[in-house]
Amino acid sequence: MESCDVLIVGGGAAGIAAARAAAEHCWGRILLAERGEAPGGVLLQCAHRGFGPGLTGPEMVDELMKDFPRRVELWYNTTVLRITEEKTALLSGRGIGLRQLAFQRLILATGCRERAFGSLGIGGTRPRGIYTAGQAQALLNQKGRLPEGPVAILGSGDLGLILAGQLSEAGCSIAALVEQKAQCGGMARNRRCLEQYRIPLLCSATVSRVCGGAALEGVMIKDLDTGAERYLPCKSLLIAVGYEPERELVRGLEGAEWLQLCGNCREIHPMIESVITEGKTAGYDCVT
Ligand SMILES: Cc1cc2nc3c(=O)[nH]c(=O)nc-3n(C[C@H](O)[C@H](O)[C@H](O)COP(=O)(O)OP(=O)(O)OC[C@H]3O[C@@H](n4cnc5c(N)ncnc54)[C@H](O)[C@@H]3O)c2cc1C
Repeated sequence: MESCDVLIVGGGAAGIAAARAAAEHCWGRILLAERGEAPGGVLLQCAHRGFGPGLTGPEMVDELMKDFPRRVELWYNTTVLRITEEKTALLSGRGIGLRQLAFQRLILATGCRERAFGSLGIGGTRPRGIYTAGQAQALLNQKGRLPEGPVAILGSGDLGLILAGQLSEAGCSIAALVEQKAQCGGMARNRRCLEQYRIPLLCSATVSRVCGGAALEGVMIKDLDTGAERYLPCKSLLIAVGYEPERELVRGLEGAEWLQLCGNCREIHPMIESVITEGKTAGYDCVT
């Protein structure tokens, strides 16, 4: 069976940092598998200047990939489907088909997934016009497409706020940002858009029901203090209520001495600096 010394799964900031660090210390074969067609992960869809010294996500990727060590093999369009206790991985990819690979060390850097509409227990059917915030951000930043307005955003963390700002700037009307906590969740710099674009912030509230036929027409907003409900007309609902680490691949294998987790698949990081630090540590730790 084909083998490598270090297999890194995921080519976001954490995986890139891990690969660079591993290459400094490990002279064996290092392979990074990324299911997308380029490195960067979530950074690729972040058009805002929130990274390092005021860079956009794609600019940050260029920075991270500068002088990237040539001896690290980059396998793009390659998804790792399974990891076994016997230290083998099953990969599927364009050009390689289905391939098994033995490894000595595995660095998992698979990022996180968004909590989806279906997991929130919101009443109503499933009309057109409901997206996760990540989907909306990717559509906007990578395809230049706006969700149909007015838009309601559920969740006032950084992602909800960043989106609200970007959509407003692009001319899309925001009906409200709905937050279950008593206060807005995100960082001060991201909260500025609320005032700048006069976006209504509804705290201690949630979306209890979506209304419409084939397409979304509005949502019911429930006041969590009083229980009162009111109708808010909107054509799109964006779900920005947080992330869950993506580590299905290693379920049951946590704690194996050959396994390191870094970045958002280990824990959710709001800032890139700690993702990079964790990636580096994972890379240094896997000297064979
Ligand atoms: C929307 C958003 C905005 C943010 N904004 C900021 C900001 O303004 N400033 C800041 O400092 N930080 C920000 N952060 C935080 C931080 O920058 C990111 O969390 C960080 O880039 C995540 O890196 P990661 O490598 O852990 O995950 P990701 O970037 O998600 O990378 C994971 C990679 O793994 C790949 N992958 C997953 N499963 C597999 C598999 N089975 N096989 C192969 N490949 C796989 C994915 O395709 C992806 O490329 C933001 C985070 C998010 C989500």
